[in-house]
Amino acid sequence: MTVSSADWIARDNAAVWHPFTQHATWIGDDPTVVERAEGPWLIDTDGRRHLDGVSSLWTTTLGHCHPDINAAIAAQLETLDHSTFLGTTHIPGIELSEALIALAPKGTGPDLTKVFYAGDGSSAVEAALKIAYQYSSQTGRARPTFVRLEHAYHGDTLGAVAVGGHDLFHATYRPLLLQTVGVPSPGDRSLGPDRLRIAIDALEATMREHGDQTCAIIVEPMMQGAAGMFDYDAEYLRAARRLADKYGALLIFDEVATGFGRTGKMWAAEHAGVVPDLLTCGKGITGGYLPLSAVLAAEHVYEAFLARPGDSGPRTFFHGHTYTANPLCCAAALANLRVMGEQDVIGQARRLGERLAKLLEPVGAMPGVTEIRRLGTMIGVEVAPSRDRTGFAVCQAARERGVWLRPLGDTVILMPPLTLAEPETDLLVNALAEAVAEVC
Ligand code: PLP
Repeated sequence: MTVSSADWIARDNAAVWHPFTQHATWIGDDPTVVERAEGPWLIDTDGRRHLDGVSSLWTTTLGHCHPDINAAIAAQLETLDHSTFLGTTHIPGIELSEALIALAPKGTGPDLTKVFYAGDGSSAVEAALKIAYQYSSQTGRARPTFVRLEHAYHGDTLGAVAVGGHDLFHATYRPLLLQTVGVPSPGDRSLGPDRLRIAIDALEATMREHGDQTCAIIVEPMMQGAAGMFDYDAEYLRAARRLADKYGALLIFDEVATGFGRTGKMWAAEHAGVVPDLLTCGKGITGGYLPLSAVLAAEHVYEAFLARPGDSGPRTFFHGHTYTANPLCCAAALANLRVMGEQDVIGQARRLGERLAKLLEPVGAMPGVTEIRRLGTMIGVEVAPSRDRTGFAVCQAARERGVWLRPLGDTVILMPPLTLAEPETDLLVNALAEAVAEVC
């Protein structure tokens, strides 16, 4: 007997508590029960096909159920399912570290030479924050402050929340948090056309005042994603590198959303030619398959954690999780990176972004659309609020046309798989245009 979507929803509602979800209204929002996926398509329990216009949660690089990643996970299952990475090692973990180091960004700043694994974007950020603080205490004097951008999103664990600046998600937890100083974001449109200069001046002033207490500056490079896709000038990253060096703080780039080709380059850092001391990545690392993330670290950071004669205590980084560097996740990531290299997926992503920009020009001219912001295939279409939850209503209208989008407030996010073909790209933009015309 087949179970209908309505039955699955009823069973879900009786047993499940979903992330970032208001359950009082959840059923009214007509949630989808996803049963299968192929390429850019998600297929629900009623057999309806939805074009995955947001790569699930900004993760899918090559499309769903890609044969090469499927085969790599299956092969790994035949040899090693899991073995701890705490003091022991395994081949996929070694090979993936080598691959990530080979791909790491180059430019002004140190080479990134070591890989520390975590389970998701938030836990990579959490590890990077602890590394930065411990680094400061092991290289001179403990500096307890982090400088963060307003409107930032770095995840939802407590350290990541502390360096976030998105009130809807973060305000509730402020009494619990680490010491931080927020600075204006160069992507903040409310600062006007001079926002880059204002933001750099503010960072300079903040570092003058708090630099000696600051262990790290953390930013989402080039694009504040969860804030609503606010892109900004690469010059800000060069200024952040200069100021971090001047005041002896580490620079952390959170590339959890921007990494692995999302911005049309492997890393957003490459747009600026700047290398941070710590780079966090996740999401697309496994092609969107399995939970894995990493912190890429500079050699000078790693070296500060090596025991020396005469030390008063261990310099060990006492951090790590049960499933750190799970071999199945590493095998998926290796397959993803191999296909990305062999099929020039970065080039495909750049061309897809340019094509989307062209197709979206008429949408940008529609009366209900305030601004379209884009870098590569990270796109935010901001609509003017015309009713309660306008952004959500646009996404629902697109869903009726077979396209799955997600809102961030009144910004509709488009972040398709990097390999999306032309007919599906046309469908994505046409459905959005029709939805905007219907709702706004
Ligand atoms: N950092 C950035 C820049 C993100 O965009 C996100 C998630 O959207 C995170 C960290 C948190 O990642 P995760 O949801 O995998 O914990």
